[in-house]
Amino acid sequence: MSHFQTVKRVPGDPILGLMDAYRADRNPAKLDLGVGVYKDAQGLTPIPRAVKLAEQRLLQSETSKSYIGGHGDPLFGRLLSELVLGANNPLLTERAGATQTPGGTGALRLCADFIAQCLPGRGIWLSDPTWPIHESIFAAAGLRVGHYPYVGADNALNVEAMIAALTHVPKGDVVLLHACCHNPTGFDLAPRDWKRVLEVVKARELLPLIDFAYQGFGDGLEQDAFAVRLFAAELPELLITSSCSKNFGLYRERTGALIVCAEHAEKLQDVRSQLAFIARNLWSTPPAHGAAVVASILHDDELKALWIDELNSMRERIASLRNGLVEALQPHGLSERFTHIAQQRGMFSYTGLSPTQVQRLRDEFSVYMVGSGRANVAGLDAQRMDQLASAIARVCG
Ligand code: PMP
Repeated sequence: MSHFQTVKRVPGDPILGLMDAYRADRNPAKLDLGVGVYKDAQGLTPIPRAVKLAEQRLLQSETSKSYIGGHGDPLFGRLLSELVLGANNPLLTERAGATQTPGGTGALRLCADFIAQCLPGRGIWLSDPTWPIHESIFAAAGLRVGHYPYVGADNALNVEAMIAALTHVPKGDVVLLHACCHNPTGFDLAPRDWKRVLEVVKARELLPLIDFAYQGFGDGLEQDAFAVRLFAAELPELLITSSCSKNFGLYRERTGALIVCAEHAEKLQDVRSQLAFIARNLWSTPPAHGAAVVASILHDDELKALWIDELNSMRERIASLRNGLVEALQPHGLSERFTHIAQQRGMFSYTGLSPTQVQRLRDEFSVYMVGSGRANVAGLDAQRMDQLASAIARVCG
């Protein structure tokens, strides 16, 4: 008897399939706009110098590989919370606490299990579209998953439809919001939109879960935290998932945190006791290395300044690639049609290209992007912008 007889194969992640196809492509002019990692002008995903220096120091100073606690490194938790909520945020004294997790994904999964186990009956509402892993994480935890409109078929942000839908979400449900650099679309809410969303959240007594995976990639470390800090100031309770994968370039070190804001210190400790219990069953204690790197960078003025410089260059490079592509489309009479690419934020752009156009770009020009028309802007090559613009003009013609 085969125990595995009935096990069916699930299709692989389509983005990873795209990577394989890209690797196999022999066209020297190929362009990878698929997978969601930052790339520099050489097409590499660099280790920031601040990270390298922190690692060198850690190598010298580390004396044990024994387990760290269930909430992770307290220094990391405090410094990351300061980065997210603002250094002088009064919540930091006793109303907010971080639990270190394996990346932002770990924070989301911890959050999903916390909602399922401690807030039974609550559904979660995701933007349409959202990062596909949001869908599967909350479904895996057994939550009822709903959607609110975000970007429509016209490839434009539809705040009115979003607000209207949230107005009908059952009282008490959880609503997941992207703090900045919305994945996959790149369309972010303006401060005035955030204030309107906050009003609906208050009126419907919703619990916001803000996914903060790209702090520093949008408009800046402080600017990108606008929504998080607004909600934290105005609401008694808030869940924030923070990732250090992109902004610290620590992808494979699996570094992140779930930050909880509670109404008072006692309740925060109740919630944190549950988080430690749930995490114990998921991964026991979190991986230490990435968090130690982040803590040593944020704790050292020189390393922190160096890291902020490097983060600023990543953000500025993305912004200049966005503008560069729109400019390169101008001679083809397409700059107006694609102006949104310059207005969007973060690594991704919903270009508005159809699945057929995406397929043609791949088949005829070796340009690889996700079927939805999502392009990783950081994968653009400033030297080959005209070539890409011509290819886009051909498939749009
Ligand atoms: N949320 C969003 C919206 C993301 O795009 C990502 C990474 N692609 C994550 C969370 C999780 O990031 P990680 O687990 O790599 O830290």
